[in-house]
Amino acid sequence: MLDNLYRQVILDHYKNKKNFEELRGDGVLKVHYKNPTCGDVMNLYLKMDNGDINKAAFLGEGCSISMASASMMTELIKDKSLQEVANLRAAMENLIRQGKIPESIDLGDSLSLQDVHTLRARHNCALMTWQALDRILKDHQEYTNFL
Ligand code: ZN
Repeated sequence: MLDNLYRQVILDHYKNKKNFEELRGDGVLKVHYKNPTCGDVMNLYLKMDNGDINKAAFLGEGCSISMASASMMTELIKDKSLQEVANLRAAMENLIRQGKIPESIDLGDSLSLQDVHTLRARHNCALMTWQALDRILKDHQEYTNFL
């Protein structure tokens, strides 16, 4: 039952991707990222505002898990501080790699990816968008210090 509910959330994001667009303008950060194990590719865009994330968006092609995860992440991290985003990122790594459900952190729709834990070959599909985020924020200590 729960299984089907989660599957439906993933498919909804895959079919109706949130923030599926290019961001342009001053201060927009961009990174290209690919997951060679599955062939998923994406561009991730971030717009910062006073050191916080103002908006996140992406364009890409890939499996339902990778695209749904990117759609969910861009919803989850908008209007958040880099420290908050680093906490979310660490929780996602634990959710996917260890299957640990975070008690105190609200992962929003991204929580529906928890069953990906049992599909080892798909871990990188779910985490690709977060790995892209690591790369785009690698020079921001407010982010990297809290990972
Ligand atoms: Zn994939």
